[in-house]
This record gives sequence, C-alpha cells and structure tokens, in this order.
Amino acid sequence: MRKTLLAVSVSALALLGACAPKAADPAPAEPTEVAAATPAEIHERLMVLDSHLDTPANLSKPDFDIMADNPSVIGEVQVDLPKMTRGGLDGGFWVIFTPQGPLTDEAYEAALQGATARQDEILAMVAAHPESFELAYTADDAERIAASGKRVVLQSIENSYPLKLDISNLQTFYDKGVRMVGLIHFRDNQFGGSATDFTSPDSKGLTDLGKELVREANRLGMVVDGSHSSDASVKDMIEISTTPVILTHTGLKSVYDHPRNISDEFLKEIAAQGGVIQINAYSGYLEQLEDTPERRAALEGLTAEFEGVDPFSADDETKARYMARMTEINEEFPPARSTFEKFMEHMLRALELVGPDHVGMGADWDGGGGVTGMEDVSFLPKVTERLLAEGYTEEDLAKIWGGNLMRVLRQAEAAKEAPDAP
Ligand SMILES: [Zn+2]
Repeated sequence: MRKTLLAVSVSALALLGACAPKAADPAPAEPTEVAAATPAEIHERLMVLDSHLDTPANLSKPDFDIMADNPSVIGEVQVDLPKMTRGGLDGGFWVIFTPQGPLTDEAYEAALQGATARQDEILAMVAAHPESFELAYTADDAERIAASGKRVVLQSIENSYPLKLDISNLQTFYDKGVRMVGLIHFRDNQFGGSATDFTSPDSKGLTDLGKELVREANRLGMVVDGSHSSDASVKDMIEISTTPVILTHTGLKSVYDHPRNISDEFLKEIAAQGGVIQINAYSGYLEQLEDTPERRAALEGLTAEFEGVDPFSADDETKARYMARMTEINEEFPPARSTFEKFMEHMLRALELVGPDHVGMGADWDGGGGVTGMEDVSFLPKVTERLLAEGYTEEDLAKIWGGNLMRVLRQAEAAKEAPDAP
C-alpha cells in the first residue's frame, strides 16, 4: 500500500515537471546528483545464475544441510542457502551427474537407477523447502522465481550414459523437469567422443545414437550442452541441433591449452551460431599447476597400484577402491590451486573474443570448482566488481549472469513449439 501511494505521488511530480514551462527557468538546472550504485548493489539486483551446480551430489550426505551454512570445502561444499544469499546467487542448473562406467546392460541399468535417485533427491529438496527454493521448467519460471526472492532450481543432465541405448528415456527426465542435456563425460560413451578419452582419436564425434539424442533434445525443448565432449562431437551437435549449443563449464585453450578447454576459432564458431560459453573455475583446467614432490610420489604410487586399470570403466569395487585412495591422497597432499585472477583471465579472454552476448559462468561448484580468492558462491560479487572495473556495463552483466543462459533456454523452448522450423 505504501509503495502504491509513493508511486502515485512520484508520477504526479513527474507530470508537473514535464508541464513546467522551460522559459520560466531562471538558470540552467544543475544536473541532479544521483548516487551511483555500488558494485554490490548492482550485483544484488541482477539475476545471477550458474549453469553447472553439482550440489545435488551433496543432498544425500548425512552431514550436509542445504539450509545451513555448511563448512566450506573447496570443490565439494560450496553451495547452500546462506552462501547463495550472501553471494547473490539466484540459482541455476542443478546437475544430475553420472560418472562414466562400462557400456554393459548391467552397468546401464545401475546408472539409470542412480540418475533417477539423484533427480528425486533434487525434487525432494525443493519440496522440503518451498519457501526458499522452487523448480523452474521455463525461462519465464526462472525469472519469476528469482524476482520473488526464492532460489531457482532448473535441472540438467551431465553425462547421458544413464539413458542406456534408448533415447526415449530422456523424456522421463524431461517430464520431471530436466531442461538441459550434456551427452558425454570423461570417457567416450554410447553417444560419442569425449574431450578427455585418450584411447580414441580426437576426430571421434557423435555416434548415430548421439545424433538421435540431439534431435530428441530439440523435440522436447531442451538445451544441448557440449562441455566434456570432443570438438568433433560438439561440431556434430552444432550441425544437428536446431538451437544454439551451450558449453556449461569450459575454459579457453588460448589461456591454458587443455583438452577440456576450447580454441579461440571454435569458440567464435559456436558464438556465431548463437551459442554460449560459461566459464569454468576448475583449477586443473585453468592453468598448468605444479604438484608438490610428495603429491607426485603419492600419485605415482596410485598409478602403480592400479596398473593397467582404467578406473572410469572398472567394476564398482575397483572404482570405489580407487576413489577412496584418491580422496586420501587429496587430503594428505592437496592438489595445487588456481586463483581468482586466472579464472578472470579465462572469462575476460572469452568476452574479448565473442562479447557479452555469448559468455556466462558455470564454475563447477561442488564438482571440483573453486579457486583461491573465490572459494565458494559467497564470493560471486567479486566477479561483478571486476567486470565493472573492466568497463562492462550493468546491461552486459545482466546477460553474462543469466540473460544469455535464459536466451538459449528460450530458443530451445521455441524450437519445441515449432519443431519444423529450419
Ligand atoms: Zn563436469
């Protein structure tokens, strides 16, 4: 009520001002001094989304509470309601991630069960806290939810391995809210070539089934995510998809030449198709980091212990043993960490190459992301501050922080409505 009265009186004053005869002005009016918004204020009023939140992996952990200010653990515990509130993070795509396993019927079935359970955990989390979180099925939903002060929960799939050999399984996830699909992870799978599978040629793109999956994603109105896929796979996605392809958490080869990053030329090609890159904050992909001799020795020991075994395609028992040893090593001899400055170097380089219409942020929170100086989502206002200092405007930032992500989602939604559009 108070707001309404104020609005009336302000517009009445504006009208009076507009009608005042100019000639009556005794002297040119002094320009009104309006205090410029601080970077923190600008950040707070933007819709801030991240395209790759691995937080669902934490939901079933007994010592994790999404409503509590959990102790921050870099790469593992970086997103909860208090940290999102402090960091002005309105939400984003919450990931249903499945590690790559063997391409056998039994393993496919286990993967499908796991991914279904993960999705149910996301739905249960939102259902348990309706005052704080809400599921978004469309870009309009996401904007309405963010404006209401609740946190936006869009869902995505990272690694389509659990869809087995039957692409109709994608619709089951769609029906429960998934709106983005990443086809491939660390290793090649039934859908195509991975950026980090060194057992196959770089030229390995999508399989016929992978191509069918892209068409199915278009039919349903889902965004296609090329992060983790080989360049050849991403090229196939661009060719087949009727809507722009996104890279939800990827860096730039021209800053650090790593297979998980993308070349300048290819990024320009993706942007020319309307695509978007969301910059990753995963230390190992940001720069070449030197491990301590102690860590190197421990890792060599691990390699020797599992000689001839690929832990990603090994049986569950071997994989669990490998992961347990890896966790021990990480605790005892932590990996070297990249920095906020290096993260910004990737982001600024991307902006320089393709501009603010094609860049966003997907930091891989709770999935290994986070750097010194940006340890969890509460540090996000630093990114806004830095981009403003570099000369980017609030309008640019609105696109970078969520506008571009919503644009590609809207394009996917529109393609669903007009499936025969060119
Ligand atoms: Zn990932």
